[in-house]
Amino acid sequence: TDKRETLDYQTFGRAVRELAQTIADDGYEPDLILSIARGGVFVAGGLAYALDCKNIHLVNVEFYTGVNSTLEMPVMLAPVPQAIDFSAKKVLIADDVADTGKTLELVHTFCLSHVAEVRSAVIYEKSHSLVKCEYVWKRTDDWINFPWSTEPPVVRRGNQVLDA
Ligand code: 5GP
Repeated sequence: TDKRETLDYQTFGRAVRELAQTIADDGYEPDLILSIARGGVFVAGGLAYALDCKNIHLVNVEFYTGVNSTLEMPVMLAPVPQAIDFSAKKVLIADDVADTGKTLELVHTFCLSHVAEVRSAVIYEKSHSLVKCEYVWKRTDDWINFPWSTEPPVVRRGNQVLDA
């Protein structure tokens, strides 16, 4: 469909608090929150405050290489977080959306080779996702406009003062 699900920053703030409340109510107390850059960083930051977890890390995963092009499979970009203290027993993976679910599956598999317990939290999950996240704020099959990526990057407006 060409329908759009639009998330604004205010609603995102509410979503991340509600997601955290769901996780807390479930009794899951992560020792480490692992965000998937870049969209997952917003989610992880909000969850880390709301769950009072100061141990945040991130992984970079490349999947969408352009507007119409994806890689066959997502790949974890260097540096792979081998420096992460994986003696932490409970990990929470945070991302913006599970779409195909391939990105989350990659990171989940990576974590499972290091720690005992891994769960995933996302703002959105689409019905065709091959990964079923433990914590989902909202389900949709529409394309989502996130507040951080809806507008194009800023461009430099000129050499006004700095180059004088
Ligand atoms: P995957 O297909 O591996 O589950 O999704 C990987 C990444 O693609 C997501 O973390 C997100 O950055 C991007 N993506 C997937 N679906 C959407 C969408 O509906 N809207 C936006 N803005 N990004 C998406």
